[in-house]
Amino acid sequence: MTQSYVIIGDGIAGSSAAETLREEAPDADITVITDEGEALYNRILIKEFAKGKLPEMPISIHEPEWYEERDIDLQLNTLVTNIDPDGHRIKTHEDEIIEYDKLLVATGGTPTQLPVENSDAEGIHHFWTFQDARSIRNHAEDADTGIIVGAGLLGIDLAAICGAQDVEAHYLMRGDSWWRYALSTEGAEILHDAMRERGVEPVFQSGVDHFETDDDGHVTAAIDPNGDRYDGDFVGIAIGLNFNTEILQGTGIERDGGIFVDEYMRTSADDIFAAGDITRYHDTILGERAQNGSWDSAKAQGTIAAKNMLEPESEEFRFVSSYSITHFDFPFLSFGHPTIGDDECERKYSDTEWRRLAFKDGKIVGGVLIGDLSPQSAYKQLMREGRVVADQKEALLQQSVDLDDLAQSQEQ
Ligand SMILES: Cc1cc2nc3c(=O)[nH]c(=O)nc-3n(C[C@H](O)[C@H](O)[C@H](O)COP(=O)(O)OP(=O)(O)OC[C@H]3O[C@@H](n4cnc5c(N)ncnc54)[C@H](O)[C@@H]3O)c2cc1C
Repeated sequence: MTQSYVIIGDGIAGSSAAETLREEAPDADITVITDEGEALYNRILIKEFAKGKLPEMPISIHEPEWYEERDIDLQLNTLVTNIDPDGHRIKTHEDEIIEYDKLLVATGGTPTQLPVENSDAEGIHHFWTFQDARSIRNHAEDADTGIIVGAGLLGIDLAAICGAQDVEAHYLMRGDSWWRYALSTEGAEILHDAMRERGVEPVFQSGVDHFETDDDGHVTAAIDPNGDRYDGDFVGIAIGLNFNTEILQGTGIERDGGIFVDEYMRTSADDIFAAGDITRYHDTILGERAQNGSWDSAKAQGTIAAKNMLEPESEEFRFVSSYSITHFDFPFLSFGHPTIGDDECERKYSDTEWRRLAFKDGKIVGGVLIGDLSPQSAYKQLMREGRVVADQKEALLQQSVDLDDLAQSQEQ
């Protein structure tokens, strides 16, 4: 009998799953449902579009024809509102009922609002969709002054957009440096300098107490908790994601922040899988539950979920993710889980070259590389292999990392 596979979400996780399902099950019924008005696009490139550096076209990955050619039923502008695991069916906002044999939830997240006065004023942007990127670009092209909030990987995108669009901006951070959970102040200072060079001034021990608006409800300034006032007719906020789990209410599917899945991307309900940013997955490398917000990891999870939807327990998810930033004249990459661990080491090699590794139980669990990214494959290999190397920090921090040297020193 023909199996029916339904996928909620046409981001990279959902779309990769659909592609794998079609490749491996030529006769299956496959439906992909998204509440967005466009098919899969490159979410990691929308910042380049917002900077004004790329036209719309290369951002799109799949046109609707891509789905037609593969006999995949793509439903755009369709919000799934309910899942009935016992009845094996879902409901859309138009009360359409769609039945499934196997379901994949790949619904990602929605940016968190800053819980302060006037945070919904005109001119305040959150950044997740291509539509967001279009409004950010339109507004940034006309704006003179900006305020950025959120000292993480998405906040720096907004800061770089201000830099590229000649918006003089203040980047308000709560601590004393950018992404303080993953970088030391010394490493972050390389990024701070790069921001300053582009007209974005980092402000530490700050944040937002409330926004001020004009008579038309358009933002004009942010007042920080110290009472300092920063002018801004453009505001970008990136303080985290709320995971899109509302549709799971009443299903009993285990979740806490994200959806719990095992190494095969199975949720706690029969025939329901999850993949991408939405999952709190069993990380077979760490040996514990983890969460990841990166394109490559979401893609790999979608593919693995599809394989296990077709053939139960056929492939485990075992993956070291990476996330790179190309805003500055030097490359930047984080991999694995650089914000966790019980031990670390770091070194600065030059004004634009720095490295930090995070360890847990003696094993590498993540890291950040600035300037020279070439050691990333060695570090990732060590992480995948789960080798205890924290006692060899000197060898690990050599400019060029040779795994054979490391093996020798381990034997000594
Ligand atoms: C500006 C920006 C820059 C980024 N840069 C990088 C980078 O440089 N490197 C990197 O690795 N990662 C980057 N990321 C993160 C990366 O894009 C995500 O980790 C990845 O796209 C997650 O894919 P996903 O398929 O899990 O979720 P998403 O891409 O969020 O897709 C989920 C889809 O499901 C839809 N949906 C949700 N609920 C429903 C529902 N009930 N019914 C129907 N549809 C629904 C959503 O609208 C969305 O289209 C960036 C993200 C952003 C926003």
